Amino acid sequence: MSLHPKPRDLNKIRTADPVVLSSQVIDLGRADEPTNRVSNELSEIDDDIAIVESFSHMVVFRTEEGLVTFDASGAQSGEAVVESLRGWRTDPVHSLVYTHGHLDHVGGSGALIADADKLGYEHPTVFGHENVPRRLERYEKTNEWNILINRRQFGGVSPKHGLGLSHGHPRFLPEDTVWPDVVYTDEMSLKVGGLEMEFHHGKGETDDHTWAWVPSKKALVTGDLVIWVFPNAGNPQKVQRYPLEWASVLRQMISYDAELLLPAHGLPISGKDRIRRVLSDIADVLEALVRDTVALMNGGASLNEVIHEVKVDEDKLGLPWLQPLYDEPEFVVRNIWRMYGGWWDADPASLKPSLQSDLASELVSLVGGVSPLVSRAQELAENGDFRLSCHLIEFAANAEPENKKVHGVRAEIYKMRRASESSLMSKGVFASAMRESEAISSDE
Ligand SMILES: [Zn+2]
Repeated sequence: MSLHPKPRDLNKIRTADPVVLSSQVIDLGRADEPTNRVSNELSEIDDDIAIVESFSHMVVFRTEEGLVTFDASGAQSGEAVVESLRGWRTDPVHSLVYTHGHLDHVGGSGALIADADKLGYEHPTVFGHENVPRRLERYEKTNEWNILINRRQFGGVSPKHGLGLSHGHPRFLPEDTVWPDVVYTDEMSLKVGGLEMEFHHGKGETDDHTWAWVPSKKALVTGDLVIWVFPNAGNPQKVQRYPLEWASVLRQMISYDAELLLPAHGLPISGKDRIRRVLSDIADVLEALVRDTVALMNGGASLNEVIHEVKVDEDKLGLPWLQPLYDEPEFVVRNIWRMYGGWWDADPASLKPSLQSDLASELVSLVGGVSPLVSRAQELAENGDFRLSCHLIEFAANAEPENKKVHGVRAEIYKMRRASESSLMSKGVFASAMRESEAISSDE
C-alpha cells in the first residue's frame, strides 16, 4: 500500500473467522460488519497457514525449516503482529517476503528482527522485487514530502492504527526497516522446508509488487493487488499506478484456479468461484476505466471533460470489495490520463498559467470585492454543489490570504465537503484545507 482505509469500528466485528465472514459477504454481495479489520489477531487457516489481520496483514506459512511470512506489517503494528504470531508458533522465521515496499508492509520488519534476537534465532532472509530497494531509496530522498502527503492522506487515522506520522515523526522510513537480501526481476521460485513457492512480479498499485502462488496449498498471496476496497490506482498525491497491468495480473491469477486467496488487506477468500468472482470484478472495473478514458482521449477530449464523463457502474461500486472508501474512480481516470498522455490538461490557459493570486485578485476586483464570491460559495455549498463552491472560495482566499472571515467560511465549506465524501483520500485533502483555514480564522 500505501496506506489504507480508516479502520472501521472493531466493536462491530461479530464473525471472528475471517474466511467464514468473507464467504458470507461474497455470497450475499453485502457486508454487515467490517471487512478491513485492524485487530492484530491471528486466524489459523489450516495447520500450516495463518493470517494476522492488521495494517497491513502478515500471512504465514509453516514449513519444516521454519516460518515463511509475507510482509511484516507497519512500524506501529509490527510488535503486536509478532506477538500474535508467537501465540501460534515459536519456530524461527526463515524467510520474509515483501509483497511491495509500502511502509505498512515493510515498516514492521524491525520487530521481526528483534524477535529473532530475543529468541536466539538467525535473522530471516528477506525477499522482494528489485524495485523495492529503489522505492526505499526514493523514500529517503523525498523524506519530508512523504511525511507531508501521508499526514494529509491519513490525517484521520488514529496513531495506534496508522504510521505514527501525526506525531512529528522525523523519518518516513523507520531506521530499523530491513532492506531485501535477495531481489528478482520477473519470477523466482523458492523452496523452504519442502514448501514450494513461486514469486511473480506484476505492476498494479506499485511497480515493485510480488504476488505468490503456493501450489501444494492451491493458494495465492496477493499483497495489495486485492484490498477489499476500490483499487488504489488513482491516489492524488502518489507516484504512477498501473490500472491495466493490475487487471492483467488479476486475470493471470484467475487462471490458477486457486482455492485460497490471502490478501494484505481485507479478508482471505476461500473457494474457486468466490476467488474468480472478486478478481474478475476488480479487473472489469479497471479495464473499463482504461478503455473509456483512452477512447475519450483518442476523441480529443480535455482532462476536465474526461473526469466528468467516465463513470463506474453504481452497482459495482456498492460491492464490499469495490467500495470507494480509500481511493476512487475519478482519481484513477486522472492517473490513466497521466500514464497515456502528459501532465497538461488541454486547457490552453493552464499550459503557462498566471500566478493563482494574480488571477484571484483580478476576479475579485471585477466583482467588486471578496463578498459576492464568499456568499455565492456559501450558497452553492448549502445546495451541495461543492465542486463549484470550492472554486469560488479558493478565488476569495487566494485574493485575500489573511482575511479571517473568508477563512472562516472556507473552513465551514471544507468541513461540509469532507463529510459528503466517501474516500479517505478526498476526506484527507479536504480536512487539511479545513484545518489550514481554521488556523487562520482563529489566529488572534
Ligand atoms: Zn498496503
